Amino acid sequence: MRIKTVSLILLFPALAFAGVPAGTFITDGPKEKPEIALSFDDGPGASTEEILSILKEADVKAAFFMLGEAAKERPALVREVSAEGHLIGNHTFSHTNFLKVPKEEREAKLEKEITLTDEILKELTGKKPEFLRMPYGVTRPWVLRVAKKTGHPVFNWTYGSDWEKKPKEELLKGYLESLRPGAIILMHDGGGKGRKTVWLLKKVLEEAKKRGLKPVRLDEAAAGAAVAAPRAVSAGTTEEVQPAAAALSIFRSTSTRQNARGEEVPVRFHLYPPSGGKTNGKGDEK
Ligand SMILES: [Zn+2]
Repeated sequence: MRIKTVSLILLFPALAFAGVPAGTFITDGPKEKPEIALSFDDGPGASTEEILSILKEADVKAAFFMLGEAAKERPALVREVSAEGHLIGNHTFSHTNFLKVPKEEREAKLEKEITLTDEILKELTGKKPEFLRMPYGVTRPWVLRVAKKTGHPVFNWTYGSDWEKKPKEELLKGYLESLRPGAIILMHDGGGKGRKTVWLLKKVLEEAKKRGLKPVRLDEAAAGAAVAAPRAVSAGTTEEVQPAAAALSIFRSTSTRQNARGEEVPVRFHLYPPSGGKTNGKGDEK
């Protein structure tokens, strides 16, 4: 009995929340269940109220990755999002592109912004945000190091494009192609103006229903993964993957590559083969 207890502790070190270790990078939920997770970034902002009422009508809970700066401007909205039962995540204070911060300053600045935003959101909701999403989806070994220190797993997304200046039908096509079990969908309730988010959200909810995909809160998706996860080791990683998070796509790489636009992006390793279609997580979120 004693041995079992010890081995469990060894298998689950530094669990931050819902079985997902701090400092882990996640882009997709588990693919075994017909579930998706919706997430909204950069708020609270101009569309938060409208998005809240659509979600309420559909009886759907989502994740809102908020900026400390925006939360200070609209504290009542932060409380409302929390009171409606949505998950509030940390999206740093100022939406800085940390790739542009001088190397010697970036870790300290990031830690300061995460901590400050945690404090602001905790003050308003009574709860420290468990999850972190980086501005522009930036993920580097030093980002994960800071996230581990501040106690957050880092969530990117499977697909998102509502900030792109393209016809709404074209944006919708991308969302619908990505709508599959485990998808983490990114949209925005704050930031830029004139986005098609509200229209896209309604269409995505309709289509998810038709396809029998249930939108669940991001922490619920992660918790599901912890229960359902097989023990797995990713070929691309040097470390053994935490069994608790093994059904999620996990990234622990120190390698980067250049994408089509010449930007440095992390090399991604999937425990499960990516299921085709346009996926993201590549650092161009607004
Ligand atoms: Zn953002």
